[in-house]
Amino acid sequence: MSTSSNIITHTLGFPRIGERRALKWALESHWRGESSAQALQATAKSVRAQTFHAHKESGITHPPVGDFSFYDHMADTALLFGQVPHRFGSTANTLDNLFTLGRGKNVAGQNIAPLAMKKWFNSNYHYLVPELEADQPIALDAARYLDLVREALAANPAAKPVLVGPLTFLYLSRGLDEAGRLAKAEALAAGYQLLLNELKALGVAWVQIDEPILTLDLPADWLQAFEPTYHRLKVPGIKLLLTTYFGDLNGNVALAANLPVDGLHIDATMTRDLIAVADRLPDYKVLSVGILDGRSIWRADLAPMLQRLAPVYARLKERLWLAPSCSLLHLPLDAAFETKLPEFLRNNLSYARQKLTELNLLARGLSEGLDSIALELNQAAAARAELDRQPGRNSSTVRAKTETIAATEPNRRGAFAERAAAQQARFNLPLLPTTTIGSFPQTHEIRAARKAFKNRELSEEQYESSMKDEIRHVIEIQEKIGLDVLVHGEAERNDMVEYFGEQLDGFAFTQEGWVQSYGSRCVKPPIIWGDVQRSRPMTVAWARYAQSLSQRPVKGMLTGPVTILFWSFVRDDLSREAVCYQIAEALRQEINDLAAAGIGMIQVDEPAFREGLPLRRKDWAPYLNWAVRAFKHAVVDAPNDVQIHTHMCYSEFNDIIEAIAALDADVITIETTRSNMKLLDAFSDFHYPNAIGPGIYDIHAPQIPTMEEIEPRVRLALEKIPAERLWINPDCGLKTRGWKEVIPSLEAMVAVARKLRKEH
Ligand code: GLN
Ligand code: ZN
Repeated sequence: MSTSSNIITHTLGFPRIGERRALKWALESHWRGESSAQALQATAKSVRAQTFHAHKESGITHPPVGDFSFYDHMADTALLFGQVPHRFGSTANTLDNLFTLGRGKNVAGQNIAPLAMKKWFNSNYHYLVPELEADQPIALDAARYLDLVREALAANPAAKPVLVGPLTFLYLSRGLDEAGRLAKAEALAAGYQLLLNELKALGVAWVQIDEPILTLDLPADWLQAFEPTYHRLKVPGIKLLLTTYFGDLNGNVALAANLPVDGLHIDATMTRDLIAVADRLPDYKVLSVGILDGRSIWRADLAPMLQRLAPVYARLKERLWLAPSCSLLHLPLDAAFETKLPEFLRNNLSYARQKLTELNLLARGLSEGLDSIALELNQAAAARAELDRQPGRNSSTVRAKTETIAATEPNRRGAFAERAAAQQARFNLPLLPTTTIGSFPQTHEIRAARKAFKNRELSEEQYESSMKDEIRHVIEIQEKIGLDVLVHGEAERNDMVEYFGEQLDGFAFTQEGWVQSYGSRCVKPPIIWGDVQRSRPMTVAWARYAQSLSQRPVKGMLTGPVTILFWSFVRDDLSREAVCYQIAEALRQEINDLAAAGIGMIQVDEPAFREGLPLRRKDWAPYLNWAVRAFKHAVVDAPNDVQIHTHMCYSEFNDIIEAIAALDADVITIETTRSNMKLLDAFSDFHYPNAIGPGIYDIHAPQIPTMEEIEPRVRLALEKIPAERLWINPDCGLKTRGWKEVIPSLEAMVAVARKLRKEH
């Protein structure tokens, strides 16, 4: 066990999914009806016990409790205060009701829709969006929560309950408009006060209350609500630590520093001047400095952190607490499980458990001096030096090339009109051309073949021939349906980022780098540790084969630079901008090879384009600038008669429409069904100049759309976009659907296109 220092340390939250995703398997088996609620509880309990144990081992003063959830912490908070829409029936705070909020339910043939999901700030975690109703009273139902707290206090009396703050909860909910949500603040604060009294009775000293919305651009009335709300939930004897993260407080420092609470946590990775915050803090308050990046998988360089902390410590003494910047939920659990990565990488990883060790070292280094942790500092420095020595880490050719990209204006040869004419001459497409987004059903056989190839049970030739069979099959079906622009179906791809990462230099793949995405779902992003380079063509052989099978254009299919970047863990010694340019350069080479091979249409998917947006609007422009440049660089050499498509799904476009237009893709396909073409308004109001394919049916639903459903949508689209620039396609890729749904759906879509063509 590590020695503890006299500096208080804590974490804001910890991964819930457990070792080797134990909770995921337990949840899914329980949902399938294969294991009891007791078995699930037992697994959850052992996950939590391991969390306490890890905190204890590392000498962390306050482990969190209440951050654990069987599904999602926002939904837990909704149940805690009875904020469940009437359609669910019961508001009781039970595990079953939590699962219903997340997964929906079928009651007597009637589907009860689950809560919607939304990205938790700019992380890759998705929370369940609570739906508020004006007549659903705030009613505290805390038994489940208090049980967790009792369990935690038995393990460690200093355990610190974690709560989503009332204003963050209301702000991130829907159902009522902003005023309606804010109107609940008073009653909700009273509910929190009741809960805090219960916690006090259990002997709790500190409670963490998360208000990350303080790092957003908040409307004035929400800012004004903080003071009165926090006055209302004061309970003598309970100390509150108000936490903010994912951004700096900016103009909200004074507000946050002066709220009637006992401590403030700030994200030091996003805050430039720590002393300025310390200066604002009344002298009875604690400042928790989130010094370790709670979302970085990399082992930290502790010495400069200690240097930064030294003056703050001198000023605040025991009023300084140390923590990671945010909950460690956003990290994989334990780098010790990565037994297959090369040592130079393994030694440089810091997942959630390793963060605890680093936190303890920081506390010791600060209170006892650098010498007291010299050994560990040297080890970390040596590990990093070893990583930096790797030849793949820094390639002078890659650097030379990407350094110039930042200074370029990568415009294609011709303007859109000129390109459109060249493309029309080449492809002679009908009005309202039909296409799909890329993937076709990933059948059991396809997955089995991919797996067998990976496990070397299938030779390269066997694998190739089975994939070619699949491509031929997919092309034949599309021709039969009568689509105008075809795709090869993406059978050879497991995942749209991993597939490219595996073929590019600079990427590594973990075994246990799982991070919760939502509910029991986890993602395992690849690690970009070195300079990204393409050593050989990645998709050209498949694309050429697919195109050889048809007279109609078959789109080449790539994942864009921004999406590859944001769906990976990225190295911390280069800017994201620089890494994105490296990926863009690799894709440029690929696109040039595709064009040279006669592929006339190339789609560069960017579903994560919006994900990179900073939390505050004032920071948007620089990001959009480099994101657009990266995309444009990838496609810059495409001759005028090569048609560049892009695809984005489930985005809002209003506020970034200029950047979308600046991408200058010849065709963009987007999701619009769920908004009933409303999303298109952004494009028509802006007079978006290029071609658009609004999704005209929702591929996420199993229902087969009829012509009667599709036709009005296309007519609606025609009101907003001129027919010459309108494409007809589904919302997104079809890989999660079955052929039985896909064929009739696409047939209906093609029939509508043919019918409306005649009218124009
Ligand atoms: N081309 C990809 C597909 O069809 C796009 C996936 C996505 O938008 N996320 O599957
Ligand atoms: Zn999509």
